[in-house]
Amino acid sequence: MKKSPNHNIYSKLLYFITIMTVFFMLLFLSLYIFNNRQEKQTYQNSQKQFNAEVQSVLKLNSDGPTALLTDLTFWEGLGSFTISKDKIWFKKNIVDNFKHHDFELIEVYGLDNNPIINNEYSKIKSKVIIPKEALEQLNKKSFATFYIKSQKGIIEIFGTKIQSVNNLNSKNYGYFLVGRLLDKDYIQTLETNSNSKIKIVESNTIESNDRNNMSYIFPLKNWNNETISNLTFTRTLNLEYNNTQNLLTIIVLSFILFILIFIYYCRLWFFAPLNTVTEILETGNKKSIDVLKKAPGEFAHIGNLFEENRNQKLELVKAKLKAEENDRLKTSFLSNLSHEIRTPMNAIVGFTELMMNTKVKEQEQNEYLNIIDKSGKNLISIIDDLIEMSKIDSHQITPNLTSVNIESCINELYDTIKVTIKKSKKIDFFILENKSPAHFNISTDEVKLKQIIVNLVTNAIKFTHEGNVAFGYEVIEDQQQIKFTVKDTGFGIDEDSHQHIFDRFRRVGDDKSIKAGGLGLGLAISKAYVEMLGGTIALESKIGKGSVFSFTIPLVYDKVEMITVQPIKNKTNIKGEEEGTILIAEDDNINFLLFQKIMKTKNFKIIRAQNGQEAVNICLNNPEIDLVLMDIKMPVMDGFEAFEKIHPIRPNLPVIAQTAFSSNEDKERILKEGFSDYITKPINREKLFDLIDNVFKKKVS
Ligand code: ADP
Repeated sequence: MKKSPNHNIYSKLLYFITIMTVFFMLLFLSLYIFNNRQEKQTYQNSQKQFNAEVQSVLKLNSDGPTALLTDLTFWEGLGSFTISKDKIWFKKNIVDNFKHHDFELIEVYGLDNNPIINNEYSKIKSKVIIPKEALEQLNKKSFATFYIKSQKGIIEIFGTKIQSVNNLNSKNYGYFLVGRLLDKDYIQTLETNSNSKIKIVESNTIESNDRNNMSYIFPLKNWNNETISNLTFTRTLNLEYNNTQNLLTIIVLSFILFILIFIYYCRLWFFAPLNTVTEILETGNKKSIDVLKKAPGEFAHIGNLFEENRNQKLELVKAKLKAEENDRLKTSFLSNLSHEIRTPMNAIVGFTELMMNTKVKEQEQNEYLNIIDKSGKNLISIIDDLIEMSKIDSHQITPNLTSVNIESCINELYDTIKVTIKKSKKIDFFILENKSPAHFNISTDEVKLKQIIVNLVTNAIKFTHEGNVAFGYEVIEDQQQIKFTVKDTGFGIDEDSHQHIFDRFRRVGDDKSIKAGGLGLGLAISKAYVEMLGGTIALESKIGKGSVFSFTIPLVYDKVEMITVQPIKNKTNIKGEEEGTILIAEDDNINFLLFQKIMKTKNFKIIRAQNGQEAVNICLNNPEIDLVLMDIKMPVMDGFEAFEKIHPIRPNLPVIAQTAFSSNEDKERILKEGFSDYITKPINREKLFDLIDNVFKKKVS
């Protein structure tokens, strides 16, 4: 099948995810930029406000001393003091007046720029000399604020010219200066007022730009307007912009992580299983099905469905092959059937015509009759097999369990089969020695059991020219089974054929099997019977060495009567030669004629009854009758009814049924009714004599 070349779901999903990622990234970026701008704006505003606050605090801070100096009312006195230098007056009027103000320094300089009061009233212990340049500046401006460095630290100086208050252009007497040391207390007060942290830093120190803090730098300038140091005000800005950015970063990283995890699980949960599904559909690979069965979620179920489907497919393929094989077998069966039927029919028709149309010598005539007889029997066995197989197919056969004496069953079979072995075959036929015989009757279907053994033994004889054919049974107590074995030293069966030898219409394709003929139904029927009885059948065979067929049936004792196990005798073909009277109940003249001819070789007195009623009458009136050969299908009264009437009156009179119905069900019915035995038509001479022998033997014993 053609694969759709591209744009499969996976690449489509990746495409979609990429677009989504780009979209979200742009969204995050714009959020980031917007946030940054906001931050900047807020920062600037706060900074502005902070600057204004600090400036007003500084203004307030310097406003006091400025106002104080401006408001001085004793300028006249101070002017006089620069001349008188009366320190008592100074102390009393100036120093005591300033006592309540936090000035660490109070100094007066004369116009010669030399100190008149220097350090006497200073709280600062070291001497502080105001430079000449500063005083000159002061002279020009009449009022000045500047900072100077001293040993104790930076001092803020407020200075003014000493002049008459009312006239600023009046004479200058000198300079009056007060100062505040920028010490701890000073800084602390300023810090409280400005609500900020204050540091004095060197003028060349560059403060680091910290976004979380606002700062304001106030330069401390000397009289020359030169910065000697800076006062840095810092206030923390509690805007936490970093947190917002961190949050954004976390969101972006989480988003990327989520996408990666999503892709990973998509592959694991959907695309990998989908690929496996495709592979399974394309190749039907068993390994892929096993992989899919382990996949997560519904795919495991799909895997199981695939497995079921695959098994069904395999079953179908098997069934198809089997159907084809069956078809082939049926075709070959039909051609076999045609051949198997035509061959004996040809012989029968051909030799009968030959005998009718030409004069043949007695020896040839016997030979032809032999061929016709054999061909007829062949035909009957083919028809029997076909009827049996179709009954098995239509499930018409069920086991008819009776109490079976296995010992006598085996002996009877031996006797029956032994007589059928052709003299030309150099076969030693015997019963296998039994180490564990059955001591009680077994509950099984006797007719089917016998049929299985007969099939196997006749095959063994058929496919053995020289050597041994033996059969027997043994009880396997621990497995609760009886095992029957049929051995031969014949052609054997090649190993390839073992597997199918029990299939119907199956024949080994070698020349010998083809020559031996048969429809290939015997073993199939035997297997069906064995399984019906609850057992199994098996084969061991090697080409050229012979075969061993064995089958089992369940060991179900019918513990009524103990069996006396006879030691295996050296069996011989015993022929009954005793004289006796036989009633033949037969409506068909030709059949009666055939009986008469067969019996001619023996010394029996023959009486005929033409129907059942006649047979009853004759039996009741002739006590010398030793045996009845009762045809089942007769006019007026059939064989069963006649037997029903005879049996209660002469219970010991053996009655052998003769019938054209060859099915096992008919045979079973005959035995069930109480007939001594049965013989099927066309009558087999040897078998008939065998049955008669048995009857007379029993009578003697
Ligand atoms: P058929 O009625 O044609 O003999 P069976 O089902 O009885 O059919 O046997 C099938 C085939 O199995 C025979 O054609 C023969 O090739 C092979 N076979 C059966 N029994 C034996 C045996 N004892 N020795 C060798 N081959 C055997």
